[in-house]
Amino acid sequence: MTARILVVDDIPANVKLLEARLLAEYFDVLTASDGYKALAICDQTHVDVILLDIMMPGIDGFEVCERLKANPRTAHIPVVMVTALDQPSDRVRGLKAGADDFLTKPVNDLQLIARVKSLVRLKTLSDELRIRADTATDLNLPTDDLLRGADGREELGSVLLVDSRASSQERIIKALKPIAEVTAMSDAQAALFEAAETPVDLVIVNANLDDYDPLRLCSQLRSLERTRFLPILLVTELGDEDVIVRALDLGINDYIVRPLDPNELIARTLTQIKRKRYNDRLRTSVRQTIELAVTDPLTGLHNRRYLDNHLKALFNRAALRGRPLSVCMTDIDRFKLVNDTYGHDAGDAVLREFASRIRSTVRGADLACRFGGEEFVVVMPDTDGATAALIAERLRGMIERTPFILKDSGIALNITASLGISSTGNGAETPEQLLKQADRALYEAKNGGRNRVVAAAA
Ligand code: GH3
Ligand code: MG
Ligand code: MG
Repeated sequence: MTARILVVDDIPANVKLLEARLLAEYFDVLTASDGYKALAICDQTHVDVILLDIMMPGIDGFEVCERLKANPRTAHIPVVMVTALDQPSDRVRGLKAGADDFLTKPVNDLQLIARVKSLVRLKTLSDELRIRADTATDLNLPTDDLLRGADGREELGSVLLVDSRASSQERIIKALKPIAEVTAMSDAQAALFEAAETPVDLVIVNANLDDYDPLRLCSQLRSLERTRFLPILLVTELGDEDVIVRALDLGINDYIVRPLDPNELIARTLTQIKRKRYNDRLRTSVRQTIELAVTDPLTGLHNRRYLDNHLKALFNRAALRGRPLSVCMTDIDRFKLVNDTYGHDAGDAVLREFASRIRSTVRGADLACRFGGEEFVVVMPDTDGATAALIAERLRGMIERTPFILKDSGIALNITASLGISSTGNGAETPEQLLKQADRALYEAKNGGRNRVVAAAA
């Protein structure tokens, strides 16, 4: 899908110019001639990036930006402010309003496309995360406390500065002092190592490194698993267009030109730190959502959904490697009686204890799941039928030998379980057939008098 860019400017000729350039790169372009129209479009339709003029009748670009950033429905849309070159103070005001980036008029073609592409890339990533995060609760992740720690206290950002000149290190450390703790390093390789090993919010790379190509460092940071989500801010010379464009293509997040304006440095650093923390939160939330979706809340074992997906993978891998795979399906005997006699809570306690005994018998490579009700499944890679029978027998003994103690009453319950096992090499051609065979064996174990292990017949 191509990204949709909204161009906002009160002068039709400016709109036409930007529109034509963006269309030539196959972006989908929307236009608005004033701030109100821009806000309405953002509220009603999907927009990926906004190019926003500052001087407009009605509400100006700063205010449009502030309103967009204050609205949770539009706060995540990157805003590029289009400023006049001779108004450096505009940049600082724009950053305060929450702008994500700047372009100066007349807009340079290369920069326009490189910046828009880089912002689209970032937005695609966070959109993806937002969709995968629990839609009900997390779509509006709070963004106003991103600079606070778990205890609610203001937390300084942590910045890694790669810069070979002591004087420039000092200047940057001093400028960022109110908002960040800066670790300065002059050796690029050592810095790369540091970025991978310690938690950092942002890496600032000074482009005039003594004996290392700064772009190489940026590309390495982007390719390492441990650092690929780290924002990079490049410090460069005015006119170093080539370097900037290449760096943006490599995926750096922002750049700033010397001489450094401390206010702008602070604002850009804060923007990157916030974005990093926002995306970290989304990723954590996605991970938790995924874990919840595949975990049985009562026992903490994997659930059936997870089993269905994962058994397929284990089955295929075993076939590919010519290794055996066994499945053990187990069902607690006369469990209904526990519920009926001692109540549902007692039943739950037995299920939890049962699950924990299963967990203690299986190896790390085995997959233990609650299949449903009082039925459990253990999938055992690299395990043939004979070994699976031994393991199942050991589990059966563990259940039978040690009574289940109900915590509240101290009552000891004698619990038994029936188990059915099946293994590859017995005619099962799909994971479903393998499970079916184990289920049939379990049924035989029940019919044969319960509290026993039955292996599926070849
Ligand atoms: P069998 O030996 O033939 O397996 O007999 P059974 O009583 O164990 O089998 P049945 O399928 O008749 O009953 C299973 C019971 O498990 C019925 C259901 O209420 C109970 N059960 C299922 N899920 C839960 C649960 O999460 N908690 C509790 N406490 N009971 C559950
Ligand atoms: Mg049962
Ligand atoms: Mg049952």
